[in-house]
Amino acid sequence: MAACLQNHQGPIVVLAHENPDGDALGSVLGLSRALRAIGKSVIAPMEVPHYLRFVVEPGEIVAPLSEWPADTLVAVLDVDNNDPVRVAGADLTTFSGPVANVDHHGTNLRRADAGVVDPSRPAATMIVADVIDALGVPWTEAIATPLMLGLNTDTGNFAFESVTPETFECAARLRAHGARIGWLTEQLRQKPRSYFLLLQEVLGTLEFLWDGQVVLARVDDVMLARAGASWEDVESYVGLLRNAEGSRLAVMIKDFGDRVKVSLRSSGGVSAQNIAVALGGGGHVPAAGATLSESYSEARRKIDQAVAAELSRASASTPA
Ligand code: AMP
Ligand code: MN
Ligand code: MN
Repeated sequence: MAACLQNHQGPIVVLAHENPDGDALGSVLGLSRALRAIGKSVIAPMEVPHYLRFVVEPGEIVAPLSEWPADTLVAVLDVDNNDPVRVAGADLTTFSGPVANVDHHGTNLRRADAGVVDPSRPAATMIVADVIDALGVPWTEAIATPLMLGLNTDTGNFAFESVTPETFECAARLRAHGARIGWLTEQLRQKPRSYFLLLQEVLGTLEFLWDGQVVLARVDDVMLARAGASWEDVESYVGLLRNAEGSRLAVMIKDFGDRVKVSLRSSGGVSAQNIAVALGGGGHVPAAGATLSESYSEARRKIDQAVAAELSRASASTPA
């Protein structure tokens, strides 16, 4: 991966997944800053959500590309390059040049010209840190901080079961290079008023299913309008639902009218990934998602079916 980036003389376009999270943005910023430090020409197109803008320096992220510069190498981060619908920032289906991929999703098909896919890493930024080491770029606070952002957000502040001794070693290394963890945490905790007003709406849709093992909520644009909120405000609600005592699965459904996006978080032997894959999506075992191109009621039937199948699989394989 490092050799591929190092040897490429033309522009390097760095992309991540749609609806970018801290790991997607952190990976893009960390790699872009490192590549620019060794004189590479980098283009990083992304629509950065409001709550993550604090970490972006003026000019380093650009609007989505409408055409490919000549002699481009594409680096796709925190998403499978074989899933062009999920890759944002430029239309990968119209690109015929070399593609490098850094990802940690188990569902990755592992077809790229160069790449590292490692599902044992709880954040893609951990792999990006290794690539930066291999490139021999001198570490700076400006490179370490966005990589720490990815670690922070994808591990739920170093709280998930996915955290390994190596995760703390990486965090220690980034911290030693000056990563501003206190500043990151403080900035990420700030929520706009619309977040709370929308939460009030969403809690009105809360369902406890399967004897409380499943907690489900729904949000649509009418609720958004009433709260003066945006879809972005919804992102962290699923993390709240998973805190319900006795629950093994949290389901947050964004109802866009003609399609729905479902976010899944699981624990206690239940696989969010299995449910997401059954619905045509993907992700990790404890956190996964899918988009269904149908109305809520239609999608809801499929979701309920996939949830039922996974719960019976989980209870069959884990004796109570
Ligand atoms: P989300 O619920 O959108 O926060 O997604 C949870 C995890 O599942 C993230 O790691 C996403 O990258 C992944 N994911 C979400 N939706 C999809 C999808 N349609 N296909 C593959 N992976 C997904
Ligand atoms: Mn991500
Ligand atoms: Mn990630």
